[in-house]
Order: sequence, then structure tokens, then C-alpha cells
Amino acid sequence: MALQEILARAVGYDAIMNESYVVDFIDDGNKVTAILEDGRRFEGDLLVGADGIWSKVRKKLFGHSEATYSGYTCYTGVADFVPPDIDTVGFRLLLGRKQYFGFSDVGASKVQWYAFHKEEAGGTDPENGKKKRLLEIFGGWCDIVVDLINATEEDAILRRDIYDRPPIMNWGRGRVTLLGDSVHAMQPNLGQAGCMAIEDGYQLAVELESAWQESVKSGAPMDIVSSLKRYEKERRLRVAIIHGLARMAAIMATVYIPHSGVGLEPLALLTKSSRLLIKYGMDMMLSWVLTGNSSKLEGRPLRCLLSDKANDKLYQWLEDDDAMEEAMGGECDLHFFSNYILMVPLPHKPRKKQLLATSSFIQGRTVVTLCWEPVRSQ
Ligand SMILES: Cc1cc2nc3c(=O)[nH]c(=O)nc-3n(C[C@H](O)[C@H](O)[C@H](O)COP(=O)(O)OP(=O)(O)OC[C@H]3O[C@@H](n4cnc5c(N)ncnc54)[C@H](O)[C@@H]3O)c2cc1C
Repeated sequence: MALQEILARAVGYDAIMNESYVVDFIDDGNKVTAILEDGRRFEGDLLVGADGIWSKVRKKLFGHSEATYSGYTCYTGVADFVPPDIDTVGFRLLLGRKQYFGFSDVGASKVQWYAFHKEEAGGTDPENGKKKRLLEIFGGWCDIVVDLINATEEDAILRRDIYDRPPIMNWGRGRVTLLGDSVHAMQPNLGQAGCMAIEDGYQLAVELESAWQESVKSGAPMDIVSSLKRYEKERRLRVAIIHGLARMAAIMATVYIPHSGVGLEPLALLTKSSRLLIKYGMDMMLSWVLTGNSSKLEGRPLRCLLSDKANDKLYQWLEDDDAMEEAMGGECDLHFFSNYILMVPLPHKPRKKQLLATSSFIQGRTVVTLCWEPVRSQ
């Protein structure tokens, strides 16, 4: 059963009203009145603005503020497609220059994919033009990317520009608060923004339940205002850190250059120290993101190393310089480190191919592989 259905059953379908667009609210200190676009009004003890990144409730609370454009537009689609490695690979991310492509198995012989492309915000496609554009951008990528795009119906492809919002300290006022993207929209690169909205919901329920119990015990009215303040206090630090990590993941997916760690330049030193941080802090960080639930991974590691498993081609390249140069379309140096292999293309020969790093989930392990794709002639 889908999560949405589980939640709908829990609150009762009668409590859910579609086509109800909130445009304003009044908090008189004892109750909140939500005012809908069509003029209807509803009173309640509190108002939770879970109305997404362009939240009306947030705007009314704190005034207009611009969201931050990530620099990337994102096409998404669900394809009727069963990848050949469906039994062993759950999620895969392919990184390219100014574009990247991710996909995951969503069950029922379907695969959901995301295609990111660096460009100005506000771009649009002509009618029935999304697939054509995607094939122009990703047509030279490996077969599975092209197959996925081809296997998706034109009208099942959505396009949206990716924005986030910087975290804020104050999530609400009086009997009104915010939840999810309305208060902490994040970039999708860590896959945590929706999870944070769910965690918000849980914490809000905990605080309201505790205020209710207190009121039953004391016979005093329920202290909603304090419970909302406790809710935001419990949530804001964790959310702000994960927001920062999501931005960092976005930067790594889009601008990270493996050979930036060579030499003693400031950038190289920064890269080297970041690698050390990742090497020694990654498990701790991932465990914290999973709220300590890493023990429930059923023996799967939080992360694994390139050296744990790589595809046959990579090993062939490591052992056979000629095969690697042939694949690379030029010369390159290989540097071996304990947890990764650094490939430094030698600049005097033109690179005919572009490097793609692939991260997959294979037999319970995340695997990073490197491969090359021909650079499309523009
Ligand atoms: C490409 C992409 C991939 C992502 N991948 C992941 C992932 O793997 N994992 C993850 O955890 N998260 C992911 N996310 C993020 C996730 O989708 C969002 O964080 C999540 O949907 C936020 O939930 P929300 O309820 O706060 O807001 P929304 O999902 O935006 O819901 C807001 C709702 O409020 C309604 N609404 C808006 N205005 C009003 C109004 N004035 N009155 C009444 N209703 C209103 C909207 O119609 C909508 O139904 C991804 C996001 C993107 C863009």
C-alpha cells in the first residue's frame, strides 16, 4: 500500500478536502481561521503550512523571499522498463559534465528516472518536445539512459527547475507553523527533503500529543503555542545540517573534479582535507542522517569503496594501460589510494570521451564505477 494511502486511512478520508487552496489566515490567539481562494473559511486550533516551496502560509507569516535556484533544471519520468540488472541494482547515478542522470526501481516493472541539466531557470519545451530534447542532451550516453528515455511516454515526462530555500530559525508564529518544503526546501541530491517533511510531521505529532496529555493531567487548556515552539526547536538544527549536506552533495555531483586533489595548490589542499573528512567522517554522518537506524540495514554497509567491487572493464584498464588509453581516447595517469583511484587525464592529447562516474547499489553495496562516453559533437 502506498504511504499516502496509509496516512489517508489513518486520518480518515472525510478529513481530506482536495481543491482547497489556502490564500490567507487569521490567528486571533484562541483559534486560527484559514481562508480559501473560493471564500470558504475553516476554523481550527492551529494551522500547519505544509504547502510546499512556494508556500502561501510562509509568505503570509514572513513576507516574500526568493528561493535559490540550483542552476539545474530536472526532467523526471516513470518508464515501463525492467533493467537487465534489476535483481542486483536498486539505484544508479551517472555523472557527466553539467548534466547527470539517476534512476531507481519503483516496483511493478517501472523505473523512475531524473535527468538534470545545467541551464537558466524558466526554460520551456515546445509541445511534445521533452523527449526530443532529452535525447539531444543524453542521446550519447550509455544504452540504459537512452532506453529509459525512449521507454517513457512523452506526457509522463515532467520538467521543473530545482530550487531550495536557506534554513530559517523561526518556523512560525502563535498558532501557525510550517512543515516540510515550506520551511526547508532542499536540493534532491541527498534524497532527504521528503524524509525531513515526514520527520517534521512525526515530531509535531509528538509535541501536540505531549501538550494534550499535559492538559488532561492539569485540567488547563492545551498549550498549543509552546508545543509548536518545541517542535521547531527540536527540528531546526537537524534540518539545517541536512540542508547543508544536500547542497554539498549537489556541488560534488556537479563540479567535483577528481584531479583537483593533486599538488599543493589551495584547491588541492581543500580537496585533500575534504577527502580525509569523508574517509573518517562518512559512516558517522550517514548513520546520523539515518537517525541511528543503520543497524536496520541488515548487514549492508553504510557505504563501500571503489575497491570493494568494480566492473570488469575497470580492472582491465587498471592492468592494461593500452586498453585504458584506448577507452580514454588519450593518455592518463592512474594514482592509487586506499579508497579510490584517481585518473588524471594528460592534457596534451585531446580527450575524445567524457568521463562518467557511476554509482550503483549492487548486491547490497554502493559501487562507484568509472566509464567513458563519447562526447557529442555540438
Ligand atoms: C526531482 C526531485 C527528486 C526528489 N527526490 C526525493 C527523494 O528521493 N527523497 C526525498 O525524501 N525527497 C525527494 N524529493 C523532495 C520531496 O519531493 C519534497 O521534499 C517533498 O515532496 C516535500 O513535501 P511537502 O509536503 O513539504 O511539499 P509538497 O510535496 O510540495 O506538497 C505541498 C502540497 O501543498 C499543496 N499546496 C500548495 N499551495 C497550497 C495552498 N495555498 N493551499 C493548499 N494547498 C496548497 C500542493 O498542491 C501540494 O499538494 C525530491 C524532489 C525533487 C524535485
